[in-house]
Amino acid sequence: MSSENKKNTAKPPHRTDRNSSQKSRSGPNSHHRSPHRKRSRQRNSRWNRHRISEHFTKRDFDSREKGCACSSSLRISLGLVGVIEAIRAKINKRVEIVTGFYCSDCRPRQYGIKRDYHHTGVAADIRVTDMSVVDLFLEAETYPEIKGLGINFDDNHVHIDTRKEDERQSWVEINNEWILLTDENRSQYISTVDQQHVNSAPDS
Ligand SMILES: [Zn+2]
Ligand SMILES: [Zn+2]
Repeated sequence: MSSENKKNTAKPPHRTDRNSSQKSRSGPNSHHRSPHRKRSRQRNSRWNRHRISEHFTKRDFDSREKGCACSSSLRISLGLVGVIEAIRAKINKRVEIVTGFYCSDCRPRQYGIKRDYHHTGVAADIRVTDMSVVDLFLEAETYPEIKGLGINFDDNHVHIDTRKEDERQSWVEINNEWILLTDENRSQYISTVDQQHVNSAPDS
């Protein structure tokens, strides 16, 4: 039985031009089979047209306002998407893109922010169900390419960006205030207990 199965499911070499890489990944031995893929095969062509990485589409990062003059210029840094994919793989949980790209006309300037990296497509606000923003922040901190990193406690998300800077800037947004994190004030917002927890076995 199993040998016949193998024959039937073997990929014909000349008919795999469509979705070939995706098929091999979601085969019977795949560690992370997505139920969505099975359910809606007809959606695949649309999904593929908009996808920019294994788990994300352009739309996930599109936070532009309808009718804004920026409608023709969606900008998404593939480096940013790569970092989010890496985080997703590491924590093995779905990462929600709360906000991706928008221009300065789409949204009013936010408190305290000198330069909004969402405007150049190198920033995303992310959230993970069943994971605290502090834990997500601590996980994001392990990626050196993330140069801007902030927790928004008001909206329960973590901002990450891959701006071109040598030094990382970290901050918290809380009660509509933007507070730069320093060695002195960090422990007020980022619990060291959480940090130990993350660095040691996660289930203990
Ligand atoms: Zn706009
Ligand atoms: Zn942001």
